[in-house]
Amino acid sequence: MSATQYEVYAIKYAHHARRAAENFIGGDPHDGPMPLDYFVWLVRGAGREIVVDTGFSAATAARRQRNHLRCPTEGLRLLGCDANAVKDVVITHLHYDHVGNFDLFPAATYHLQDLEMNYATGRHMRQPVFSGAFDVEDVVGMVRSNYAGRVSFHDGDAQLAPGVSLHLIGGHTMGLQVVRVATRRGWLVLASDASHFYANMEQVRPFPIVYNVAAMVEGYGKLRALAESPAHIIPGHDPLVLERYPAPSGAMHGIVARLD
Ligand SMILES: [Zn+2]
Repeated sequence: MSATQYEVYAIKYAHHARRAAENFIGGDPHDGPMPLDYFVWLVRGAGREIVVDTGFSAATAARRQRNHLRCPTEGLRLLGCDANAVKDVVITHLHYDHVGNFDLFPAATYHLQDLEMNYATGRHMRQPVFSGAFDVEDVVGMVRSNYAGRVSFHDGDAQLAPGVSLHLIGGHTMGLQVVRVATRRGWLVLASDASHFYANMEQVRPFPIVYNVAAMVEGYGKLRALAESPAHIIPGHDPLVLERYPAPSGAMHGIVARLD
């Protein structure tokens, strides 16, 4: 265990009513409502604030018919975190719901996998089945950020700070990465879209937006290997996260969950 231990928060910023059949390859025999929450995450400790993903804007929500609840930076502000001052932002992957709003972090270096930039700017994007969850302006924005010297590329696993590391999983996208954090209750893994819901990894029923199904299924095992226990894996979009973990205060109930 690392000597440095961090606080970790999930911050909900949007919601989308979906049916269970839309959340699994092959659908769901007991089809019913299975809504999706949208989160960004804050890792804080030892004088560091690391934001994981940046969410999407109200304008994007309107265009994609998602229910936008608040700007992710407002959620961060509830925790005393000023987006303008954040130095490190991990972009788990370049889908619109994870990298939109990147421009609201003007002092940040973006941490991204080589393979994710390759994927988002490469041959597969001519096919809507792969490009549908990307917004080209976000991708171009990351290219511009790179030209401005603000992207830190990682090729596989990397240490971001003592007790905070990045791990390439792929599957959902070519270069999806997850974040492993040392906390007071052991190694926690922010899985992002390596598993949208608890059910995807627990029942080994992959989510249907996918680059490589085999890598996605392999990823469930990697998550378990990285985490202290299955209860230390935080899925990317599951509303259960806000039920299973407490709010830091009454005012943040239903918005923020403390994960450590
Ligand atoms: Zn997502």
